[in-house]
Amino acid sequence: MSAANSGSHANPPKPSLLVQGTRLDGRLVDIRVAGQRILDIRAHDVRAHDVRAHEALTQETQVHQPETRTPNPATPRILNGRGTAVLPGLMNAHTHSAMVILRSYADDMPLMPWLEEKIWPIEARLVEEDIYWAARLACIEMIRSGTTFFSDMYWHLPATARAARDSGMRALLAGAIIDRGDASAAEAQREAILTDHAYVAVMACDRVRYALGPHAVYTVGRDSLVWVAEQSERLGLPVHLHLSETETELALCQDAQGLRPPAWLDSLGLLGRRTFAAHCVHLNEAEIALLAERGVHPIHNPISNLKLASGGPMPYAAMRAAGLRPLIGTDGCASNNNLDLLEELKFAALLAKHASGDPTVLPAEEALAMATIDAARAYDLDCGAIAPGKLADFFLVDLSHPMMFPGHNLAADLVYSAQGRAVVATVCDGQVLMEAGRVADEAEIRAEVAQRWNRIAGRA
Ligand SMILES: [Zn+2]
Repeated sequence: MSAANSGSHANPPKPSLLVQGTRLDGRLVDIRVAGQRILDIRAHDVRAHDVRAHEALTQETQVHQPETRTPNPATPRILNGRGTAVLPGLMNAHTHSAMVILRSYADDMPLMPWLEEKIWPIEARLVEEDIYWAARLACIEMIRSGTTFFSDMYWHLPATARAARDSGMRALLAGAIIDRGDASAAEAQREAILTDHAYVAVMACDRVRYALGPHAVYTVGRDSLVWVAEQSERLGLPVHLHLSETETELALCQDAQGLRPPAWLDSLGLLGRRTFAAHCVHLNEAEIALLAERGVHPIHNPISNLKLASGGPMPYAAMRAAGLRPLIGTDGCASNNNLDLLEELKFAALLAKHASGDPTVLPAEEALAMATIDAARAYDLDCGAIAPGKLADFFLVDLSHPMMFPGHNLAADLVYSAQGRAVVATVCDGQVLMEAGRVADEAEIRAEVAQRWNRIAGRA
């Protein structure tokens, strides 16, 4: 069987990567990749659930060891997929990647004192190269847990852009704005954002794109919000912000503007198809309808919301009923404290079931879609599925891992049982970023981050 691209080619594309003997939708397949995209998928002549194939899988003792064949430029690189299943790369819709450097630095505090007394003061001591190395470390953690794309909001956008480029990941990076209504801070931040966007454009890495990141209604003044709406409209840029995360945010917005956050943003033209809104915990029925009408992309951050006690679950079932398709994000490592999207999906599913009193809400397949095809559509990226012609963004999960065995239902195993540690290989844009559980440069990056933290914390 071949599911090759239709159409004829005078010069057929040359495969650059061959994934051998992985499992896709219950069949054993070989996947050929040419450049950035999947060229074709060829099924083996046994079904994966046949006894022979099952034995071949379970008796394989080195299921994810790298292929040792000598590289030859005339033949594709081989990725040994035996004993694995292939899934589309996971897409993290909301994070602050460089905050891995603050993992477990301050915990068990309410949001505002946590930000004002702990996070913002230490962030003020981070220089651009700190952000670069911390984001590299975050990329390793994401790659190791099957994530191929992240949507980020942080300072020093060029540093995260270089980190995404050098790590091989796909990213949408939003330059943060936090001006608290201060006109001179606002002016400087807007200028910096335009300079940073120019930097990313000159970098010319088509895996890395940029967006606008007004932090939230309680940290960004009216003028900057209006500026963001104008720039987004003029340049077609996505807007990435925090929305209705806590009751404090609602009270501050009501006091200052006489409106709740969604109405305030809507009055400024900031709710639309290019808007990606993290958290969305405190939304009433009318606000859910408004977000659906405007085509906003809500992002579920269940672990961060639980850890910071943001005041309840995102109203997932009501949002789906209104036609919204929430995406999924880990938030930063200071409030999670990891970047494992499989773990995040489990929390999302459990929380939605618990909140609605209905165990059929947010089933495993739907959870996986949040992190793959739904996200790909929202970000207008041609990935999120394993099919000929799609971008070659995928990961291999080890089916012999105890958390994946005996393997009655792959989606349920991934969402309810597995964690990122069951991932053994990750490919993004046709490039192998992890093979046999190993990512290049990991030790060097960890050492560099440790050294930098010593300086930041004043210990060196
Ligand atoms: Zn956040």
